[in-house]
Amino acid sequence: MSGGRPSDTVVGMDTDEEHVVSVRGLHKAYAGRTVVNGVDLQVRAGEVLGLIGANGAGKTTTVECLQGLRRPDRGTIRVLGLDPHRDADRLRRQVGSQLQNSALPDRMRVREAVALFSGPHAADAGELLERFGLAHRHGSAFGGMSGGERQRLFLVLALLNRPRLVILDELTQGLDPAARREVWSAVARLRREGTTVLLVTHELDEAEALCDRVVAMRAGRVLDQGTPADLVARHGGWATVRFSLTDPQAAQELSSLPGVQDVSRRGEELAVTGSRAVIAHTGAWLLARGGPEGVPADLRVEIPDLETALLALLDSDHESEAA
Ligand code: ATP
Repeated sequence: MSGGRPSDTVVGMDTDEEHVVSVRGLHKAYAGRTVVNGVDLQVRAGEVLGLIGANGAGKTTTVECLQGLRRPDRGTIRVLGLDPHRDADRLRRQVGSQLQNSALPDRMRVREAVALFSGPHAADAGELLERFGLAHRHGSAFGGMSGGERQRLFLVLALLNRPRLVILDELTQGLDPAARREVWSAVARLRREGTTVLLVTHELDEAEALCDRVVAMRAGRVLDQGTPADLVARHGGWATVRFSLTDPQAAQELSSLPGVQDVSRRGEELAVTGSRAVIAHTGAWLLARGGPEGVPADLRVEIPDLETALLALLDSDHESEAA
């Protein structure tokens, strides 16, 4: 690694090329209250990793420890093989962090912000501004920019010094749907280019769209991690196909289809619940059946998403803690 190896590498710790971030047994308390309680976390080179979870789970505290902004009480942190506290100067240019809105004065112009944040080996700022759709805002004051433009400017500033790791916290909070999509496509591009990104987010559609893996936290601990699809498969529950059909035999026939767990009827509406395969089998059954009612006009499918999965995971953890 160009950043060099730590002199006190812990035996068996991941300081290899594969892991840009490696955290082991991180503990942090504020005024005697533990808010990060034994977190292990790895960010692999080239991946977009999402930190998700309940409010107050310790996500930001964990990230602030990685950024060298807070000193852990216990545990080991390596970022690009370096210690964020001891090697703060060496890491500064290699880690690009998203600024908070209050970080730039309203009167500062885009070109002034770029000049302020450019290090000696900065990338071509003009090309970055162009890439994030801000070339025409070169002379604009920060205070006059929309929320989406500000977040894209923060991305430009975070990328300015060709960082090997980019840390983004609540990237699209408060943005309208169109601005969120603009910022998402900017992050998706980083992902395609192989930039390693650590993203803290409450927006689970965002995590699902952008992250290769997610780490779910609650009350200072990691509850589970994996690809968004892994977490949905483990905690999201069943898929459901709903439609109206008056045929009294339908429920019994549908119950025997592969993967079906349950068929329930409410009035004319049938709900077929089971594995995702049920979607295909129910569709095929409806087509094969034909008949005067054809494919029901109100046919719809409910597939569990990351939000459903996280809520179930947080609930079950809460229940097991209470028990
Ligand atoms: P959120 O999703 O709500 O932003 P989070 O998962 O990022 O939460 P943190 O911001 O790390 O969680 O906060 C974890 C806990 O630590 C919270 O209960 C918070 O109130 C508390 N906390 C954070 N910063 C401080 C501080 N400087 N002093 C005291 N307590 C703090």
